[in-house]
Amino acid sequence: MTDKFIPRKVQPGLTRLPNIKNIIAIGSGKGGVGKSTVTVNLALALQQQGARVGILDADIYGPSQPTLLGLSGKPDSPDGEHIIAFEKYGIQVMSIGFLIHEEAPAIWRGPIVTKALQKMLQDTLWNNLDYLIIDLPPGTGDIQLTMAQKIPVAGAVIVTTPQDLSLIDAKKALVMFEKVHIPVLGVIENMSTHICSACGHEEAIFGEDGGQSMADQYKVKLLGQLPLDKKIRVQSDLGVPIMSAEPEGLLAKKYSEIATNMSTQLALRPKDYSGLLGKIKVQQEK
Ligand code: ADP
Repeated sequence: MTDKFIPRKVQPGLTRLPNIKNIIAIGSGKGGVGKSTVTVNLALALQQQGARVGILDADIYGPSQPTLLGLSGKPDSPDGEHIIAFEKYGIQVMSIGFLIHEEAPAIWRGPIVTKALQKMLQDTLWNNLDYLIIDLPPGTGDIQLTMAQKIPVAGAVIVTTPQDLSLIDAKKALVMFEKVHIPVLGVIENMSTHICSACGHEEAIFGEDGGQSMADQYKVKLLGQLPLDKKIRVQSDLGVPIMSAEPEGLLAKKYSEIATNMSTQLALRPKDYSGLLGKIKVQQEK
């Protein structure tokens, strides 16, 4: 394992998983704000910065990571119990979308969903991760709340768009994390401005400073802003996220800055020494 990445404390009463240093939950108030797209590009940005990264796609209502990463099929199991994560662009990936029928989530009830997701997290053979990024379902219902209480998370990030309608629900998501003692590392404002692919003109079609005012109100950081750019959507649909397609591009730079800002916020959190206990030696008095 790399030493640069240090495990941080998780919610009281929960224990960090031994093979994952830090789990980060990505949440949003509403669907369609770009949470899954942010998740995959943020994961790739962290990986390009030298971290070992995994993605757990827990978005039961619309698991997008298989499409975003161009993955399909069922994962292998060495013993009929554990699951081997897919690997793409150097990222380990597991998605509820690999395991269930497309129409199933609609009839699943809260407790079944949370159990299935917890099992997926525990049964996957994650290979020494510095970060596991969880793409949570949007919203603040029972499923999200129970998951937030049961999964040992080091921090959460909220994705929102700048307009009021999205912000109202994003704030609810933030309050939910605070309620279950998960520190909010910050807010990412997606689709901040629209960049015209024909002329390059930039326009704040969803209004300005929504993410910043939310961050100010709740005393958290605005980790960054991302424009509404056709390239992001096109690359997502191709299964080659922009971070992988154009790692040196301007958009990649923005995701990379957000990744750095997120790790900086995480580094301010108390360390978790639980995994180090095995290394302590008791010296005998002579
Ligand atoms: P969510 O996970 O919040 O439901 P998605 O990540 O699935 O949202 O994004 C919804 C749609 O918006 C997708 O088609 C995606 O490609 C597109 N999208 C997300 N972020 C951007 C962006 N910054 N610029 C352009 N399109 C985007």
